[in-house]
Amino acid sequence: VTVAEYMREALTNPAQGYYTRRGGIGESGDFITSPEISQVFGELIGIWYISEWMAMGKPSSFQLVELGPGRGTLTEDILRVFHQLASVLSKCDVSVHLVEVSPKLSEIQARMLTGGKVQPNPEDSPAYMEGISKTGIPIFWYRGIQDVPPGYSFYLAHEFFDALPIHKFQRTEKGWREVLVDIDPEVPEQLRFVLSPSSTPATENFIQPEETRDHVEVCPEAGAIVQRLACRIEKDGGAALVADYGHDGTKTDTFRGFRNHKLHDVLSAPGTADLTADVDFSYLRKMTQERTTTLGPIKQREFLKNMGIDLRLQVLLQNSHDTATREQLLHSYDMLMNPEKMGDCFNFFAMLPHQRVVHPDKKDKPESKSPLPPVAGFNELLMK
Ligand code: SAH
Repeated sequence: VTVAEYMREALTNPAQGYYTRRGGIGESGDFITSPEISQVFGELIGIWYISEWMAMGKPSSFQLVELGPGRGTLTEDILRVFHQLASVLSKCDVSVHLVEVSPKLSEIQARMLTGGKVQPNPEDSPAYMEGISKTGIPIFWYRGIQDVPPGYSFYLAHEFFDALPIHKFQRTEKGWREVLVDIDPEVPEQLRFVLSPSSTPATENFIQPEETRDHVEVCPEAGAIVQRLACRIEKDGGAALVADYGHDGTKTDTFRGFRNHKLHDVLSAPGTADLTADVDFSYLRKMTQERTTTLGPIKQREFLKNMGIDLRLQVLLQNSHDTATREQLLHSYDMLMNPEKMGDCFNFFAMLPHQRVVHPDKKDKPESKSPLPPVAGFNELLMK
């Protein structure tokens, strides 16, 4: 089988997949993510959406669409900010749309966000479940982005694209070959990597003609989702924020597994460990097909600094009076920002309508328009 088929089965097989059965996000699980480390992370992302909503002329409604919401912590922190800034958002109709394949994680999300007040929907409705957040916002769950209704939307994908299946390719003297997963004939219980004897449909279709690397990983599913997001943003407006570890088209072999916070052999005990590959942002950018403007990738520490994390930390430190809380705040700040920890390897990438960044008729009368506000995070946050 291809590495992509193997990864898809290992992660999302309805009976035995890692996310379906285990999905161990958090300190007691297999891997920890930024929203689980500090509430400040989600709060600053919530501010990003409000700042973009304001910059885009405060449309009367928007959907917050999160892909792969994990435990629901990030949405919870964003909704708290929306609630705290209710006076700003007062006339705006907000709804939340979660794209989640794992029944187990969707249950955890429902408990976190609604306190368990959800109802399953009939088979033929696009959302498989719906409920109301603790702050009174309607929330819907879907299996895929294609089921989310059209409309002005803010998209969020945090550590989502790295979980989607990749194909792996190796350049050889005879041309590109695909890396496949095979049963070791000597040890039947063991899997091994082999090279395809000839080209495969994936080598024919997914390698860019200008590719210079000898080993490449391509995630066509991520490409298809980004294309869809770009079409939706171009047609209905909004923005997408993608945060993940990754590179800009330079890395080669990044496929790896995590179990109990330790590296795990990707081929052993499939379904019991998280499998992941770095996100290739240059590929995502290409897949927007210039339907949207893209910003980034920029490093997490730069994005969070631009969003005002230092000021937010100071306020929280001033408001906390016990040493343990203060230490926890400083520790989590260090985890998110330290270049040796998550500060440098995580990146932020945004997709925005072209008119958000360049006036449509700029060429005709450049001086007659007031300047567009800079995009927060990628520039310093200015909120009036
Ligand atoms: N965003 C969260 C969780 C990241 S883990 C955080 O940062 O903490 C990846 C998430 O994507 C999980 O919720 C997993 O169940 C979901 N997921 C994985 N593959 C998916 C797919 N093909 N479609 C929808 N969700 C998927």
